[in-house]
Amino acid sequence: MSPHGFALPVDGRGPAGWTVETPCGNKTALTAGTPLPTPTVVLDPGHGGGETGAIGPNHLREAVLNFAVSQFAKDALQANGVSVVMTRPGDDRIVLTTRSALVRKLRPAALVSVHHNSSPDGPRSSPGTETYYQYRSPPSKRLAGLIYEEVFRALSVYPIPWVGQVDAGAKYRLNSQGGDYYHMLRETAGTPSTIAELAFISDGPEADLLSRPEVQRVEGEAVARGILRFLRTQDPPL
Ligand SMILES: [Zn+2]
Repeated sequence: MSPHGFALPVDGRGPAGWTVETPCGNKTALTAGTPLPTPTVVLDPGHGGGETGAIGPNHLREAVLNFAVSQFAKDALQANGVSVVMTRPGDDRIVLTTRSALVRKLRPAALVSVHHNSSPDGPRSSPGTETYYQYRSPPSKRLAGLIYEEVFRALSVYPIPWVGQVDAGAKYRLNSQGGDYYHMLRETAGTPSTIAELAFISDGPEADLLSRPEVQRVEGEAVARGILRFLRTQDPPL
């Protein structure tokens, strides 16, 4: 952990200090900092800093929303005695290679990347939540399924015109080599990981709903419940 609160992967120790990977993906020597004990969970709020992610019709930025929801999830997990490290301490830009390297160094029991979606197929009668899992990993599939179940249930209470993909739910996506398409799933193999696309920020009614802090809390606590069930029960997803 750097003095500025960044959790950075350490590659070794040189005469100038710890050799770490920086948020930009370079290597540098860190002269001060504290070792980070292995957390149970790494939460990865997608995007950050100049990389805003998707932007809602109400100008809500995905990077800011992802962080707020992740913070609520972190609070709920910690209240249940689960240790959590976040891949960014605030609205900072951290490249994917540094995020995945951190996960490989820490090897938590679960990694959850928090995102919000855009470009839906069309209207739906219920929330279009999606969670992607590592297709070769049954634990990743269970984690994704439990988070999907909790988030879908939590958002379903809001009577708004939802949008989504026709195949919403827990699913996987492969690249042309037959590996996991998404970096944060492919490069964290060995750690049960999921990318959660919680709702559609590109959709006006959903963006307005998501701009409310109490709804961000509902989402974050639902993500936390899914993670807690993954860690502490044998529940299969529905
Ligand atoms: Zn995103």
